[in-house]
Amino acid sequence: MFTLHGTGVGFGIAIGTARLIRRLGQEVPEYSIQNEQADAEIKRLTKGIHTATECLKAYYEDIRRESTDEVHAILDAHLLMMQDPVLLEQSALIIRERLVNAEFALQVHCNDLQEIFQNIDDPYMRSKSDEISQVIGRIQDELLGQRAGHSSLEGIQEGEIIVTHDLMPADTIEFKKYRVGAFLTNLGGPISHTAILARSMRIPAIVGLHEGIRYLKSGDTLVVDGKRGVVLVDPDTAALDVYERRAAKIQRAKKELESIKYKPAISLDGQTVQLNANIEFAEELSQSLASSASGIGLYRTESLYMNRQEFPDEQEQFEVYSALLYSTKLPITIRTLDLGADKQVDGGRKNMSLATNPALGRRAIRLCLHDLTLFKPQLRALFRASVHGNLKIMIPMISDQAELDQVFIVLNEIRQELTQENLPFKPDIPVGGMIEVPAAAVTADIFAKRLDFLSIGTNDLIQYTLAIDRIDDEVNYLYDPLHPAILRLIKLVIDAGKNADIPISMCGEMAGDVECTRILLALGLREFSMDSAVISEIKQRVRGTDINEIEQIVIDLLSSNDPDHYRGLIERINRLSNNENPSIT
Ligand code: PEP
Ligand code: MG
Repeated sequence: MFTLHGTGVGFGIAIGTARLIRRLGQEVPEYSIQNEQADAEIKRLTKGIHTATECLKAYYEDIRRESTDEVHAILDAHLLMMQDPVLLEQSALIIRERLVNAEFALQVHCNDLQEIFQNIDDPYMRSKSDEISQVIGRIQDELLGQRAGHSSLEGIQEGEIIVTHDLMPADTIEFKKYRVGAFLTNLGGPISHTAILARSMRIPAIVGLHEGIRYLKSGDTLVVDGKRGVVLVDPDTAALDVYERRAAKIQRAKKELESIKYKPAISLDGQTVQLNANIEFAEELSQSLASSASGIGLYRTESLYMNRQEFPDEQEQFEVYSALLYSTKLPITIRTLDLGADKQVDGGRKNMSLATNPALGRRAIRLCLHDLTLFKPQLRALFRASVHGNLKIMIPMISDQAELDQVFIVLNEIRQELTQENLPFKPDIPVGGMIEVPAAAVTADIFAKRLDFLSIGTNDLIQYTLAIDRIDDEVNYLYDPLHPAILRLIKLVIDAGKNADIPISMCGEMAGDVECTRILLALGLREFSMDSAVISEIKQRVRGTDINEIEQIVIDLLSSNDPDHYRGLIERINRLSNNENPSIT
């Protein structure tokens, strides 16, 4: 038995078997072979291609009925590429000439092909280079699986613990299909995609294991402790026993939390709090409603644009938004596209910034205003769908008043177009903005006067304020939602909302962090939006809080200039909470 340590996120404890998954971008091993081994290596390559093809065919059969024509077209093309004799011939030639292993020969061939595709002018053809790496990646997965117990996504068993270098936003779509036990990744921090995914799937994850996963192989028995950030590898019976008992206790606590579901989110001193849900897919609405969410505080629409060749047109989006709005009377806040930076979907097509520092580049509303062919169909779809329910439109990452001027011009154009076309829409849909950039937080009073609501996106606000790239695990130890700078900015935004008499919400991960709930309540926040998985826990904390009692302590906290005193006050606030129920983490 040995242990690995990283950043624990998500829920509870998982005990299960490791499954190593190699994702795009992860290094392929390179080693030399002897001349006389070349034939055997080519045979291994041939077998790898054959098995990968059979697996892909089986996967295709599995999903054929419930997937779209677009997915069929992609998989047909992948099968053709995989079976192309040139792929085998060229890679075999590389094995013979350079005397390298099959996976690496495939990589060399893949790089050559990508170079050719990258130099093609036609952006559509250029985008095909991603598909080549996906196809070759599948074969490499297969080869690595034969050699070292790696394997690809197909055939994942319930409860298995996924061990991988990193997860991308697009992976969330794939993984939500499987009932996996936990995630372990080399990269990532508390607000990385793996963390958000794990929370939404109500499972533990340990991110930022650095090179830790190299000590693991598929089939190892693992205990994943999401609270402490510890992985036990091949635990002995005594350790296993302890963890099984702890896991059972957490299960019982989860059941107890169920009973709070239909109780109102009212504090001990009688103040009502709104607890909304964040969703990434329209299908998550029912789960959110089942968790008694008061509405949807953030629908991240990027998922509509992921894992596909062509972006969705106005009609497709109209249908998705209409169905969503039609199915509930509760308010649904739909965020306009937030592509770019950590949310890449198509390898840089559609004018996406490939800047050195994409988080500071042309992303979110900047990208949409730069490319109205991206922005307008979405807004038209939203306006048209608005008649079916209670819609709010939210603009991500606003930082400058000039952006708002432009947004309002586009919105007016759309109102005029739809009127001319005789298409029904609600003219007065509330339009709000996300406060994610420190400049916007500091000038929240100006934004508050021009918008119908504001929502604090703490994932980005923390990234920009503390200068820590949210996907860089080397600096994620600095992630601290309770940093005085963050609390002061949040207060500015909440006060600006009060003065302008508009609602202020929070939809970053901080809103679902029970250690922050009481402080946010005392700062005046009354609307939280979080993964539906944590609503009950946050509600329990709200119900155990006397906001009046802690308001003065939070005022002292904001003016404290002694770090020990500061931490002491936070601990005191959280200790004061009347929280008798057991923790589910
Ligand atoms: C945020 O930045 O807090 C947020 C909710 O947006 P996202 O995590 O999608 O960037
Ligand atoms: Mg954000």
